[in-house]
Amino acid sequence: MDKTIIKTLFNIIVALTLLSYFIASFAKPKVIPQMAPSETDKNFCVTCRNVKPPRTHHCSVCGICVPKMDHHCPWLGTCVGYHNFKQFFLFCFYQALVGAVYGPQVVKYAFFSPDETLTMSTGGQVCYYITNVLALPIAVALFPLSARIMVQLYNNLTTIEMMHDKQTRYPFYGIKRKDGNKTLTPNEYDMFWLANAK
Ligand SMILES: [Zn+2]
Ligand SMILES: [Zn+2]
Repeated sequence: MDKTIIKTLFNIIVALTLLSYFIASFAKPKVIPQMAPSETDKNFCVTCRNVKPPRTHHCSVCGICVPKMDHHCPWLGTCVGYHNFKQFFLFCFYQALVGAVYGPQVVKYAFFSPDETLTMSTGGQVCYYITNVLALPIAVALFPLSARIMVQLYNNLTTIEMMHDKQTRYPFYGIKRKDGNKTLTPNEYDMFWLANAK
């Protein structure tokens, strides 16, 4: 079978992974204009001395307020929020696909058909094993993470909001209203799944 199409597709996904990684990593959150707080403003960032718009949180690592903050990502070296959530999701999803292709290769090479693989130098073999051994846990970790982000996109919720007990809607299951003994609060950002994802 001609594997050119599969190889081309795979390399396109690898290129897209790198592209989304760099865009997500270098994107900067929108700067919040300086606003005078009103008497009733509960959303005030004492560090930035500025009003925090809804869904904005202060990141102590970045030292700024991040609109629609999801979390601070040590892998990207920046915050994930309104400015790069799409690229963050695409990076996780593409990387999971890449990991799923690379991961099984190490098993194949180590146990089943070492002769099929090209002859490699010692350095080449070390790189081969490191890449493929790393790919397994990456795929195992990133598939559930991608699924979780898809639920977030479906609901228009950030990780922080989900941790703060917002009701979450699941496909085929419906709205989860309770978590153990806790009653979850309704999700006021829900605009139905297509608009949520957009
Ligand atoms: Zn702040
Ligand atoms: Zn941050």
